[in-house]
Amino acid sequence: MNIINIKDWKLGIQLSKEKPFLISGPCSAETETQVLQTCTQIANLGVDVLRAGIWKPRTRPGSFEGIGKKALPWLVEAGKQTNLPVCCEVANANHVEEALKHGIDILWLGARTTVNPFAVQAIADALQGVDIPIMIKNPVNPDLELWIGAIERIAQAGIQKIAAIHRGFSVYNAPKYRNQPQWEIPIELRRRIANLEIICDPSHIAGKRDLLFEIAQHALDLNFDGLMLESHITPDTAWSDAQQQVTPEGLQTLMKQLITRQLDTDNLDYLNKINHFRTLIDNLDTQTLHLLSQRMEIVRQIGLHKKESNIAILQIERWLNVRNSALEKAASSNLSESFVEDIINTIHKESIRQQTTIMRKD
Ligand code: PEP
Ligand code: MN
Repeated sequence: MNIINIKDWKLGIQLSKEKPFLISGPCSAETETQVLQTCTQIANLGVDVLRAGIWKPRTRPGSFEGIGKKALPWLVEAGKQTNLPVCCEVANANHVEEALKHGIDILWLGARTTVNPFAVQAIADALQGVDIPIMIKNPVNPDLELWIGAIERIAQAGIQKIAAIHRGFSVYNAPKYRNQPQWEIPIELRRRIANLEIICDPSHIAGKRDLLFEIAQHALDLNFDGLMLESHITPDTAWSDAQQQVTPEGLQTLMKQLITRQLDTDNLDYLNKINHFRTLIDNLDTQTLHLLSQRMEIVRQIGLHKKESNIAILQIERWLNVRNSALEKAASSNLSESFVEDIINTIHKESIRQQTTIMRKD
């Protein structure tokens, strides 16, 4: 996939190593004053792009569904006054047309749009022949293929300025965060589309402002390419997502606390030490695989032995003993119980698979 990175979007965005690339602004544009006051007050806090929701996809009817196209000039004016590019969400071809007509610089597809290939395709069709950066949020459900599919549809429309936004995945009765981060999914996205930049949206993951820092810092620790953080002049009275938006002062404090990480360095001390550790890890990985291979060889012998005596593959008591004895060793091995549980379950699953193959042979 031919992707142009954020620094080459030609919107005057200057990336720096000292601070993350930052998109900020209100969840929704509510009034002209609210948009202009919020945007001018955050403009010199390290914000690179201003955001505001114009059309809001709300779960239940009757909630505030966005001002609509009347608010587009407010956002454009905020961009002019601050000399920053502006972005908003589009959910259908008409939104695309209106946003382009008003001169919005960057568009994004929301989680409830990415989930629907018909909707994504309609937007992709409306973008044919247009040169504008598009950011694609993950779908509401933890489905990486659907996320990649949406990115491909936009790319196939000829858009090259593409970034992804990780905003977490919804579950029933969400325990801590409003949307589960499931970090392994954006990490896998990075492996699948190596040159794609990924921005983290801690606001929609957290759902509450006091959880923003830990999520934003984790994203930077994982070397995400930027952050999208909702801010509002008076968040407590916001017409949408009141609990997760921060004041301009809140945004400033958050940005000051965050530590950016570099991908590499030419510091020789660091390089020597990391190379030493990595050699140790590589050797241990080789040994671990060798031990697993030996274990599976015995598993296959047991499979044959059971087959000859017509004995069932699974004996629940034996499995419980194997599992419990591994779990008992977790603490003294300085390993978490859940990690040991995952490992022993995976090993057992493969052992059953191997023995099933042997049983079924001729
Ligand atoms: C938003 O960014 O305001 C929004 C509606 O986000 P999401 O699509 O992630 O729910
Ligand atoms: Mn929001």
